[in-house]
Amino acid sequence: MESSNVLNFESFKNKVGRFDLRERTCLIPEMNRLGCHLLAASFRSFGIRARILETFQGMDLGLAHTSGKECFPCQITMGDILHFMKQETDRLGAEFDSDAYVYFMPEADGPCRFGMYNKYQRIVLDSFPGLSGLRIGALTTADGYSLSGIIEEERVTDLRKSSYVALVVGDVLDRLLWRVRPYEKEPGLADLAVEKCLEYLVDTFERFGQGLQFDEIFARLEAVVREVKSVMDPEIPPKPLIGMVGEIYLRTHVKANQDVIRMLEKHGAEVVNASVSEWVNFTSYERYRSAKTGLRFSLKQFKFNRLKDHLKDLFAYGGDLFYQEHRQRQIYKRVSGLIDLAKDHKVSHLEDVLKEQDLYSFDLGTEACLSIAGMMEYVREGYNGLVNVYPFTCMPSITTSAIVRPLMNRFKVPYLDTPYDSSSQPGRESAVRTFMYQADQHFKRHGRHVIK
Ligand code: SF4
Repeated sequence: MESSNVLNFESFKNKVGRFDLRERTCLIPEMNRLGCHLLAASFRSFGIRARILETFQGMDLGLAHTSGKECFPCQITMGDILHFMKQETDRLGAEFDSDAYVYFMPEADGPCRFGMYNKYQRIVLDSFPGLSGLRIGALTTADGYSLSGIIEEERVTDLRKSSYVALVVGDVLDRLLWRVRPYEKEPGLADLAVEKCLEYLVDTFERFGQGLQFDEIFARLEAVVREVKSVMDPEIPPKPLIGMVGEIYLRTHVKANQDVIRMLEKHGAEVVNASVSEWVNFTSYERYRSAKTGLRFSLKQFKFNRLKDHLKDLFAYGGDLFYQEHRQRQIYKRVSGLIDLAKDHKVSHLEDVLKEQDLYSFDLGTEACLSIAGMMEYVREGYNGLVNVYPFTCMPSITTSAIVRPLMNRFKVPYLDTPYDSSSQPGRESAVRTFMYQADQHFKRHGRHVIK
């Protein structure tokens, strides 16, 4: 692939946005592996040709086409899409047509750099004449990741529901793996069992996603939980419980975070990581919250012309949030009779935690809202240590660290920051080992949180 330096700003308008996915192959970057594969399966059940991009294979391309100042996830995803395009060009030769693909790259409306990834990647893609037809499908937090416009309007709500359930089931599978692996009968059994079950659940979503046959999906999830749980050795005593928060991509992308959960487990931990659906709930909550604020201001200032819009948003985002929290509760309830998996904190509760202790404000936004409050909850519940995982220089995560680190010193709860970029840090394992020593001391002194 040859690149050129001609910039075309029109393509931000024409080739970044929401596109009909029925006409093109939809390329989804792999973040948390399990959830992404289930999401793609849910898309396929609606007739969308969705594929997960192989990840980390194109790191050399990602690094070659970024300056080094971008966030690490931007470099990884840049490499993933360029690598895939190169492979497709080689495979299809003269028949390759970049217009046949939509590359999925969501964005946030601020205040950090996430909103700029797809613009930057657009510039890079346009610098390759053969790739300028590739569209970037940009879902945004500004409308709570609405899927409107990507398939027929009358099926959008169903696609959203099925996709959300796929993400929650992906979270449950992740938590199942982290719950079982520290106690497996033989090394490797838990990974093997989850991997086998992933195929089964992918097939489940392809068959039952579109019809919203959730009973069928949940019944199969229960079978998976039983199967994976069977590799646990009940004789192994409980281990120190570590709560993990941080930037969503890094903390869920195993290669990007150099498999930090496995490293913690190697040094004696059981880990609970923040979930992906927590972030989706947060975006709906934020939209709902801002509609409430807008409504209040309109009434106070007698600006009745905007009232209708605020009310419409209030019902739409409130409805989304209600549905999501209801489904999430339902799924965790189905599996909680089989195994004690940690549940998510409700986002409104996390806002209350921040308010009560005056630590940060949801008005400022970003994942810091979830991470700071999430860690305060882990402490209250009796976790033995906390880890903050993030890309090197990530703004919300550094803010989180600045607020939480002194508090954890005061509470005497072990705390570890683990920033990552494309290099590997020689001292990381010693830091994890030291942290786990402290967590073990905390565990011996105070016991640990019992998940119900
Ligand atoms: S959350 Fe962090 S890593 Fe993600 S765009 Fe913002 S600053 Fe970059």
